[in-house]
Amino acid sequence: MLFLPKKKTAVALKNTRETLFVNVLLPLPVAGFFTYRVPLELNDSICVGQRVVVQFGKKKIYTALVRAVTQKPPETEPKYILSILDAKPIVNEWQFRFWEWMASYYCCTVGEVMNAALPAALKLASESKIQLNPYADLSAETFSEKQIILIQTLQNQGKITLGEAVRAVEQLKIIPLIQTLIEKGIVTTEEEIEERYRPKIETFVCLSDEYRDEEKLQKLYSELERKALKQLEVLIEYIHLSQWLSEDLRDVSLPALSKRIKSASVPIRALEKKGVFILEERQVSRLTQRQSSSLIEDIRFSEIQQNAFDSIRNQFLEKNVVLLHGVTGSGKTELFIRLIQETLDAGKQVLYLLPEIALTTQIITRLQKYFGSRIGIYHSRYDENERVEIWKNVLPEGSKSNPYQVVLGARSALFLPFENLGLVIVDEEHDSSYKQYDPAPRYNARDSAIYLASLHKAKVLLGSATPSVETYYNAVEDKFGLVSLNERYGGIRLPEINLVDLRQETKRKQMKSIFSQQLLDHIGRSLDAREQVILFQNRRGFSLHIACTNCDWIPQCVHCDVSLVYHKKANHLRCHYCGFTLYVPEKCPDCGYAGIQMHGFGTEKIEEELSIFFPSAQVQRMDLDSTRSKYALQKIISDFEEQKIDILVGTQMVTKGLDFDNVSLVGILNADSLLSYPDFRSYERSFQLMSQVAGRSGRKNKQGNVLIQAYNIHHPVLSCVVNHDYQAMYQTQILERQKFSYPPFHRIVRLTLKHQDADLVNHAAADLAQLLRKSFGKRVLGPEYPLVSRIRNLYLKNILLKFEKGISLPKAKGEMQQCIQALLAPPTYKQVRIVIDVDAM
Ligand code: ADP
Ligand code: ZN
Ligand code: ZN
Repeated sequence: MLFLPKKKTAVALKNTRETLFVNVLLPLPVAGFFTYRVPLELNDSICVGQRVVVQFGKKKIYTALVRAVTQKPPETEPKYILSILDAKPIVNEWQFRFWEWMASYYCCTVGEVMNAALPAALKLASESKIQLNPYADLSAETFSEKQIILIQTLQNQGKITLGEAVRAVEQLKIIPLIQTLIEKGIVTTEEEIEERYRPKIETFVCLSDEYRDEEKLQKLYSELERKALKQLEVLIEYIHLSQWLSEDLRDVSLPALSKRIKSASVPIRALEKKGVFILEERQVSRLTQRQSSSLIEDIRFSEIQQNAFDSIRNQFLEKNVVLLHGVTGSGKTELFIRLIQETLDAGKQVLYLLPEIALTTQIITRLQKYFGSRIGIYHSRYDENERVEIWKNVLPEGSKSNPYQVVLGARSALFLPFENLGLVIVDEEHDSSYKQYDPAPRYNARDSAIYLASLHKAKVLLGSATPSVETYYNAVEDKFGLVSLNERYGGIRLPEINLVDLRQETKRKQMKSIFSQQLLDHIGRSLDAREQVILFQNRRGFSLHIACTNCDWIPQCVHCDVSLVYHKKANHLRCHYCGFTLYVPEKCPDCGYAGIQMHGFGTEKIEEELSIFFPSAQVQRMDLDSTRSKYALQKIISDFEEQKIDILVGTQMVTKGLDFDNVSLVGILNADSLLSYPDFRSYERSFQLMSQVAGRSGRKNKQGNVLIQAYNIHHPVLSCVVNHDYQAMYQTQILERQKFSYPPFHRIVRLTLKHQDADLVNHAAADLAQLLRKSFGKRVLGPEYPLVSRIRNLYLKNILLKFEKGISLPKAKGEMQQCIQALLAPPTYKQVRIVIDVDAM
């Protein structure tokens, strides 16, 4: 049982004359706490979980977090804390426990976890850059003298660091003032302010209540048919876009409607006059809250869903974690909605994790229908002020005015100050983007969610159509509960999947560049039927690389050990690891031959070729390159929903959980490239990717089609995909994992050594492996070069440790860290960086 620090008792402890000290956490990769002295006048205000400003080192100031208030003086004379930033704690005891667990499990410092957990605006330090918000209304506020000096400095100098601000005002105590200015939105941290304060207004077309009636609408139809065909056309298009037939009215924006019909504005206005349409100006913003419009009671489960739902509840009586294994479109989300409602009814909070923000747009609309303004969204594309707003709204104090009882977010949402968590949903639990690669903490959000939930005595529901082998194993072993949904909702059949043999097609001269004739025919048929198509290719860019046909020269990145990828639109070669670019040489720089050829292909090439084969189709690419700006992704998704796009070409992004109604065909252009990736998870991943992207096809009305192009159509994973046979994939994989000592039977810890000097890395890695072997013997593998052995001018070498399940992990990690310390002790190796990745993926 955990107790929150009670402010009363803490105060009672304190005698105003007493000398108090605080142990604080700094957002830095240094281990342990730092002790500062509390000025007497702050004795009454100081408490655990508050932020304080401290000086660290000679000149730097940091925001630190109070972890403990004590009377015990440290050994060396402590500095005073400079100020207190919060009236009340902003971090609670559960969070501290969670951070401490994470640091110990993933072998990093609590400071590093704190750094990941707190939004930047809550952890200002000397280096933090601040600037005036150009959209702020300065005349509406009154400022102190110091604040005025600061504002003037910002007006003159633009962006300055906090350290510079302190010097400008000649006073350290300015920091709480800056904090106040940030909270008021007058000063911002260095984030994308432009997009934040430009509220976007858009006009929406709504059907008036009067005409939401089937009969009235019919009458209107026949009336318009006789007198106003143009209006009828508009109305029909509106009905189509708003998905009237599915009884699930979507918002239709005026531009969206106008785009579909030539000179639509007159008939739209006419329908408005008649009282059929209501035109509404709305601010489209991320924090705009919607009112809930549907009732949970209106969800009618199918019998299978009801059984699954009952089973989940029953299993929660005994198990803390339940896996919901349901095929794509089986109605998992509807089950989640009902469970969320029950948790809220019990007065508890819900955390709904999604692997990618790409998915939030769609899920949020579905959830807001039921939970309205009780939902907060939290992810890294939000700017800092919004993040702080949500942070504060999850806090109990905030909850009176604006209760975020449900938080939907990507992995960082785990760090919010929950007080009373009842349920954590981890949707698409198999997704590898739940793992943070860099920087520390290198945590897996799914696994961390399970720990977080245990602190709160909350339940965890893992959802997936293609569970990870680890999770399914846990379910089979009865550690987790297991509930399966094997049918799509509404009796719709899973898509029909067919393989296209590229070897045959090439022999028979049936290939049109990268497309088989079969695939082109299918695309053509879908387009004719006004249905949409999704094409998946794992690589972005135009071609994978270019090479000289005479001497095989391939352009390489100068900073990394990879070949460059050709991007046609930008007309350059680019490194996907560091961003280095190079113009395409006309002649081979090695041999002078003017015959450079492209090999392989990426999304950009598919996009271009499609426009040749289907000149009238609207083609859109969805990959990292086309979605860099903040709203680009959201726009592509909504354009596709509104059928402004006919063919969507994308990388992994298109595979994930998106729910479109009108997609009848999914094409996978090159399955071989997925399957040949050298990693013990590559079969599992390929199965997941292909099944997931296949699942985008034919969701609402009818069975969809999937075509997979491959050179080796006899690959066993492909037959699992074609037959929708998760079990077969699992059975073969689990045997492999056992045979070769991989998870879930062994835990993997990967150590990566990095340095600019290749020889030094090699020697250090060899020495470290030797040290580790003394403790761990055969559990040590390597050192080995990773697939890409140099990134941004740092040479890399990996050592893999495999720990069997029975072994005490904390002890093993302790020994491992001792070996690392021993290695780094002599000055020769001091500069070698070692990254520890626990449960590396
Ligand atoms: P999943 O999350 O398993 O992919 P969804 O929850 O998205 O499946 O359900 C697929 C489709 O079926 C969605 O359009 C959803 O609205 C619909 N659906 C699922 N269950 C129900 C239900 N009980 N009543 C009405 N529609 C449902
Ligand atoms: Zn050459
Ligand atoms: Zn590079």
